[in-house]
Amino acid sequence: MSKLDDIVSLCKRRGFVFPGSEVYGGFAGTWDFGPLGVILKKKIMDAWWEFFVESRDDMYGVDAAILMNPLVWKASGHTATFADPLVECKECKSRFRADKIADGVNESVTSEEFWDLHVKCPVCGKENWGPIRKFNMMFATHVGAVLPDDDAELSEKSIAYLRPETAQGIFTNYKNVVDTFYPSLPFGLAQQGKAFRNEISPRDFILRDRECSQMEIEYFVKPDTWEENFEMLRSLQHEFLEKVIGLNVSSIHELEVAPEDRAHYSKRTIDFMFDYPNGTEELMGLAYRTDFDLSNIARESGKNMEYRDKITGEVFVPHVIEPSIGVERLFLAVLANAYTEDTVNDEKRVVLKLPENLAPYKFCVSPLLKNKPELVEKAREVYDLLRAKYGNVTWDDSGNIGKRYRKQDEIGTPKCVVIDFDTLEDESVTVRDRDTTEQVRVKITEL
Ligand SMILES: [Zn+2]
Repeated sequence: MSKLDDIVSLCKRRGFVFPGSEVYGGFAGTWDFGPLGVILKKKIMDAWWEFFVESRDDMYGVDAAILMNPLVWKASGHTATFADPLVECKECKSRFRADKIADGVNESVTSEEFWDLHVKCPVCGKENWGPIRKFNMMFATHVGAVLPDDDAELSEKSIAYLRPETAQGIFTNYKNVVDTFYPSLPFGLAQQGKAFRNEISPRDFILRDRECSQMEIEYFVKPDTWEENFEMLRSLQHEFLEKVIGLNVSSIHELEVAPEDRAHYSKRTIDFMFDYPNGTEELMGLAYRTDFDLSNIARESGKNMEYRDKITGEVFVPHVIEPSIGVERLFLAVLANAYTEDTVNDEKRVVLKLPENLAPYKFCVSPLLKNKPELVEKAREVYDLLRAKYGNVTWDDSGNIGKRYRKQDEIGTPKCVVIDFDTLEDESVTVRDRDTTEQVRVKITEL
């Protein structure tokens, strides 16, 4: 098994992540978070919000609707350009993203260029390709009461899309925030929420899924200050990923995206790449989007998107720098970073070395023996005390103590607290450390 398979298996075994709709045989490109996954995901998202929004004076939050006026996607260019090159194998009818099965080509590869590469079908091994067709990745849906026998024009008019990115929900609220909060430039609008992409071939666990959560900031700046603000946000990303989330510095690599590979709106993009178990992949992006979005909105809506400088009176459309991160990608990076196998007492051990601020539980409390009422009662007392103090504490009295330790190691609980007969005498407990497996006696009052 690869390390990714090990992580997928741990996620399922311990209730972090399950395949979506699993009871019905699954649903490609969707994943459900179980009890521990929810806690970890929420801690990651809360850490981001705390770091980028709550601890700063220049950031504001928004939470826009997922269904937006279709004009949003016309203005942003998504209706025309949010498309992947789809190619079909004429032998076995499998469909692929051409740029994902051929080396050295990007999304704008033409049919002729692709055919010239003589790629073999990853499924059947033959080489018999149809033409490349552009496949728009937005999920379309109908809004309002539309019946199958309604005329085509009415059906067309009712089409809306599940948002393919959260960013546009921020841009469409830029003017609302400027008019109500009068923020000085530079300032950022932050949002966390779901985004949807109809990936042709979802794969790599939660790395390439059809429904994901994003955490994005649009940072509005005076046009001639974009470079210094880009650098400021660049170093903030490193601080967040390395200090707050605790990712290994050597696993993160910056990739300066070449002009021909950048999104249509970007004048500069750095991808922050992470060494995932199955290869180095994008973890987050930092893009200079110029005034592309606000100017498009101004053009399509006829509303003025200009900003008036409070001191100089200068009037201009702000430029934007966007740090954007996928929650699931970060979630997997955190797990990959923490997943460790070692040997304890000649036995293989799996341990998630999660940073304390992200571990689903900070402590696990248990009585040495579950059939001794006096131990259970004392352990409950300690459990209530720690829960009142720290919140995220779990209780475990199943199996023997060794099994409990292994389980807590696997879910990343930093400390196990065990109440034994000595506790009843001296008010001290055994505290066992996840990473070193060392055990020390500690007074209950010092926990
Ligand atoms: Zn084939």
